[in-house]
Amino acid sequence: MPSPAEPIPKKQLAAVSDDSSSLEIREIPVVQPAELEPGRALVKVLYTGVCHTDLHVVRDEWPLKPQRPTIAGHEGAGVIVAINDPTSNLKVGDRVGIKWIADSCNQCEFCLSGNDPICQKAKISGLTTSGSFQQYCPAYVSQLTPIPESLDMSQAAPILCAGVTVYKALKNSAARAGQWVAIPGAGGGLGSLALQYAKYMGLNTIAIDTGDAKKDLTKKLGASAWIDFTTTEDMVAAVKKVTPDGLGPHAAIITSPKPEAYLTAMSYIRPGGTVVAVGLPKEGAVVTADVFWTVVQSKRLVGSYVGSRLDAIEALRIAAEGHVKTPISIEPFASLESVYTRMDKGQLSGRVVLDLFK
Ligand SMILES: [Zn+2]
Ligand SMILES: [Zn+2]
Repeated sequence: MPSPAEPIPKKQLAAVSDDSSSLEIREIPVVQPAELEPGRALVKVLYTGVCHTDLHVVRDEWPLKPQRPTIAGHEGAGVIVAINDPTSNLKVGDRVGIKWIADSCNQCEFCLSGNDPICQKAKISGLTTSGSFQQYCPAYVSQLTPIPESLDMSQAAPILCAGVTVYKALKNSAARAGQWVAIPGAGGGLGSLALQYAKYMGLNTIAIDTGDAKKDLTKKLGASAWIDFTTTEDMVAAVKKVTPDGLGPHAAIITSPKPEAYLTAMSYIRPGGTVVAVGLPKEGAVVTADVFWTVVQSKRLVGSYVGSRLDAIEALRIAAEGHVKTPISIEPFASLESVYTRMDKGQLSGRVVLDLFK
C-alpha cells in the first residue's frame, strides 16, 4: 500500500561544492513531482553514508572529474515520495537505496550481462549526476535498490557502497566455501565488511593489518587467522604457512590502498589463485607482478568495481538477515565538513552516516 502522500517542500538543504575547495550546505529547489523526468523518482533521503570517495571527488583528486556544482553522496537510504515511471514495480512509500552507479543504458553488452558498473553510458552519483547529499534526490529509477523492511535504514546506507563492493570482490575471487582468502586492510572500513561477507560465504579468512585494536576487531568479526604486516618479517612465508597445505590462500581481496599489498599478494596466493584489486591508491599507483611466475603458476589479477543491481540486492539481504553489521556513528547533516576533516586526518573509526533531517 502506498503511504499517504506527504507534502513535498519547495526548498531543501543540499551539500554543494562549486569548486574543489568549497563545500556549503545551502538551500536549493526541490524538483517537484510534476517536473520529474521520465524514469526518475524523487527520493527523500533519510540517511547517507560518507565514503572516502566523496572527498576525492569533491576535491578533484581523481582521474574522473565531477560536474560543477557538485552534490556528492552515494550511500543514500530513503523513501520514494514521487515517481514518474509507469513501467517500474517501485512505488511511492518504497524504501530504496541510492548507490554509486546512478543510471545505466540497459542495452549495451555490459548491462545485458549484469556488468552495469562498466556501462560506458553509466551515470555516477556525485560525479555525473547529483548524489545523496541532499534531502530530496531526483534519482534514476533503473538503479534504485529496494531496501528490506527488516534492515535499519542507517545500517543500509554503508552497504550500498562499501558492502556491495567487497561482496562483489569476493564473488570475483572465485573462491568457494572451505577455501582460504587473505584480506589486507582487514581492520579498515572495507576490510571489516569483507571479513563478515567472507564468513557468510563459508570462506576461511586471513586478516592482514596492524595493531592490537585491529587484531581484536578482526577476531571478533570471525577472522580465522591474523598477521600484523608491520611486525612480520617475511609476509609471503607467513601467509602461506596459515593454509593447511602451505600453498597459500586461494584468493586475496586487496582492501588496503597500499600498492605494496598487491606485490606480496601476487607472491603468496597459491597456484591458480586470484588477486582482486578493490582498494584505490592515489592517482598513478601501479601494480607490479613477476611475469614468469604469474604465467607458470596461472595466477590471476582482476579489478572489481562496485557491483551490479543484483549484487546490491543480495548484499542488503545478507545484512538484513543479521550476518553483516557496520560500525556506524550517526551525525547531523551540518557536520559533513568536519567529517571530511577527520577523514582526511585518519581520525574516523567506522562509518559516519549523516541524518539529513537533523
Ligand atoms: Zn563509496
Ligand atoms: Zn549499458
